[in-house]
Amino acid sequence: MEYREEEYLMLSGIQHYAFCKRQWALIHLEQQWQENVHTVSGELLHRKAHDKFSFEKRNDVLITRGLPVHSRELGISGECDVVEFCCVEDGITIFGHKGNYRPFPIEYKKGKPKTSEIDILQLAAQALCLEEMFSIDVPSGAVYYGEIRKRENIEITAELREQVRKMLTEMHELFQRGYTPRVKWSKACNACSLKDICLPKLGKAGSVSHYIDTHIREETL
Ligand code: SF4
Repeated sequence: MEYREEEYLMLSGIQHYAFCKRQWALIHLEQQWQENVHTVSGELLHRKAHDKFSFEKRNDVLITRGLPVHSRELGISGECDVVEFCCVEDGITIFGHKGNYRPFPIEYKKGKPKTSEIDILQLAAQALCLEEMFSIDVPSGAVYYGEIRKRENIEITAELREQVRKMLTEMHELFQRGYTPRVKWSKACNACSLKDICLPKLGKAGSVSHYIDTHIREETL
């Protein structure tokens, strides 16, 4: 099965969904967003990485920033912070450049490595997009962490690929149904940029737009 372009979800939503399904729905279904210090500094780091239209060559490596990517099979589109095209024997050709290349995506994060797989899942989704677009295996990539100024190489394993596919199938299903999952309070709520909108301690909150509609109706009756 292939998704139509109008059905594509944002690739970056994978990190929200992996963090909390409700957070993803509030942002991507209900267009609720709230800046906090984490989102603002993360955005600044991404802007630096996405220094658009830059393209440079360092030794045998071609480096692109802000490369738009998509996958018809997964129904997603987005941008890769950085993709290094590394010289290999059995790679793809790139117009204007000698040799053969294999893409190596690098995702920029402002913090340090997390105990969860959130950052890695987003990187795996980028690798799957690059594989589909360039018809070449992308067996690995990296996550660069701004706080420790270090990049961690990641193998895009079969398990990671399966996890991304499963997650995206669920996300498409929720998106089509327009369903916002209910609150499940966890420690993650303390660091959530949407906690003042979501009101996790109220416990049974459903869709924010439904809540607002109901209360406006009550007040105008
Ligand atoms: S406050 Fe908690 S339940 Fe609500 S969106 Fe954030 S992480 Fe999810």
